[in-house]
Amino acid sequence: MAKVYHDSDVSLDIIKGKTIVIIGYGSQGRAHARNLKDSGLNVIVGARPNGESWKRAVEEGMNVEKIEDAVQKADIMMFLIPDTEQPHIYNNQVMPYLKPNQALGFAHGFNIHFSQIVPPPFVDVFMVAPKGPGPLVRDLYVEGKGVPALFAVYQDYSQKAKEIALAYAKGIGATRAGVIETTFKEETETDLFGEQVILCGGVTALIKAGFETLVEAGYQPEVAYYECLHEMKLIVDLINQGGISFMRKAISDTAKYGDITRGPRIVNEETKKEMKKILYEIQSGQFAKEWILENQVGRPVFNALLKKDEEHLIEKVGKILREMMPWLKKK
Ligand code: NDP
Ligand code: MG
Repeated sequence: MAKVYHDSDVSLDIIKGKTIVIIGYGSQGRAHARNLKDSGLNVIVGARPNGESWKRAVEEGMNVEKIEDAVQKADIMMFLIPDTEQPHIYNNQVMPYLKPNQALGFAHGFNIHFSQIVPPPFVDVFMVAPKGPGPLVRDLYVEGKGVPALFAVYQDYSQKAKEIALAYAKGIGATRAGVIETTFKEETETDLFGEQVILCGGVTALIKAGFETLVEAGYQPEVAYYECLHEMKLIVDLINQGGISFMRKAISDTAKYGDITRGPRIVNEETKKEMKKILYEIQSGQFAKEWILENQVGRPVFNALLKKDEEHLIEKVGKILREMMPWLKKK
């Protein structure tokens, strides 16, 4: 089992009094900046003038500067703008100003692992990746708790990169829950695999295929929506709360029998073969290359496929049915 770092294992000292620049004030950026500040650390938010974030960060009492100005004062800088935006911001507003012994932090390994950002040898490169969305990182911190995180060191110029990463994780509250060491490679590849095969790609494909099967067999789309999409959350919440066996304690024996005898026919050896292929495309860099190219040419496939799915019957039916369930709208 992996070593888990808790509050008592980690000292904030190495980053106390240092200047921490948070680049971006979105989902993660806002949470990190505010938590670090409340942990008694010196934080500057790097943002673009005229942007929404600049205004919001100022309103919330943050020290805000243009990215290229903030970077020049930074001991530690954390990249918390969208992954697809990071390379050109790095090249134009960060790289020209880098100085020896600065530390560059990331919350996801993609750009470093796939060499979209290539830092000079005289800086530290680390990752602290919370395992939860930004607003939760903030809310739990305020409650005296924290969201667990992964951390990694890619480049250790100062010989202190691990200490810095762990201190940063403590500053955002993550060591209150527990922090585990990984590598940029492991975090990047497993993150992509998870979102492609299970969390986003797998789940939506499963929902749509089930829905289509029922509708093509003449069942009402409304009823199919409830069975294939709406109830997903009830089951997933139980699995999330207590694991698979725990979920099975909450369903009927009929459901359980169907689950254990039919499930393996839906996700079978063939499916697993395809999963391995997708994993290989991730590991070989083929997926990254495809996605980077797609961005360079203005996202034609991305836009077309999203649009097609937005027009799917399940989305039209869902819109009407969710109107009947106003409680779903609450945060
Ligand atoms: P967001 O999409 O929330 O980032 C939005 C922020 O980026 C805003 O402050 C926005 O500023 C700024 N921004 C966007 N484009 C530019 C630009 N061209 N120049 C300057 N600022 C820009 O990002 P996330 O918080 O979702 O993700 C940040 C990192 O964290 C990513 O590496 C992601 O993989 C990682 N991560 C995200 C998680 C999540 O739950 N979201 C979980 C774990 C990791 P403006 O208001 O001016 O547009
Ligand atoms: Mg992901």
